[in-house]
Amino acid sequence: MPLINVHCHLELTNLAGKLPRNKPFFDWLAELRKQVASWTKEDYQASYIKGLELSKKANTNIIYDVGNQLSEPKPNNNSQVISMHEIIKQVLPTPCTPHSIYATPPELVKYAIKSCVEAGIPWSIHLAEFDDSDRFSDFLEIFKDEPLLVKNGFIIHGNFLTESDLNFMAKNNIAIVHCPQSHEWFGHKEPDFEMWKKSGANICIATDSLASASSLDLMEQVKTLLRRYPKAFTYEEAIAAITTTPAKTIRSAVNVHSMS
Ligand SMILES: [Zn+2]
Repeated sequence: MPLINVHCHLELTNLAGKLPRNKPFFDWLAELRKQVASWTKEDYQASYIKGLELSKKANTNIIYDVGNQLSEPKPNNNSQVISMHEIIKQVLPTPCTPHSIYATPPELVKYAIKSCVEAGIPWSIHLAEFDDSDRFSDFLEIFKDEPLLVKNGFIIHGNFLTESDLNFMAKNNIAIVHCPQSHEWFGHKEPDFEMWKKSGANICIATDSLASASSLDLMEQVKTLLRRYPKAFTYEEAIAAITTTPAKTIRSAVNVHSMS
């Protein structure tokens, strides 16, 4: 069974061990900005390649990577990597996906998700990670005129999602992506895994970047998850979250595209 990592930022790999743990998210982000302030294009590229090597060593077969420095080597012949340009404040080449609703203006969120639908790739967005101000309902509001666009995607983190958010996601093939080591790194609120499972939404496990995780190995993420929450998932459920479940979400986006 192929191992699929549906959320990482390969270009941040060389920040491994450089950023603080257990700090509020925006303090961590300020430190990240300081660390990369002097990085050149080549530094980002070296960091990306290092991340790719570590992922391959960990037997990862497919990676959904988000980055905003256009650091993937060109031409990018790596068919195992879905390289997504992550839009923050400015338009980037397609395929692109929005970073978050707090850092990306609504019109760019819409533009980016449209570009994913057109390319037949699931979209992804960081949402509801560190408090309840970053709401799924605000994300949906952006698409009130074109609600069909929000099918087939990945909500990254989602610690503060509500039951109705999850029910909507289950109906619309929007998967939730939990990154166990990154979650522990920040000391985020414990997700209501029982509610997640009850909703029927697809649950995926991913690594996030080495700026907030100690490993790009999906099996290490599974170990962290089962150590922290031994009752929440069976081993088989955790393995499905890095294999068959992400495969399903990726496949449906491709199917929708080929039927349209
Ligand atoms: Zn991320």
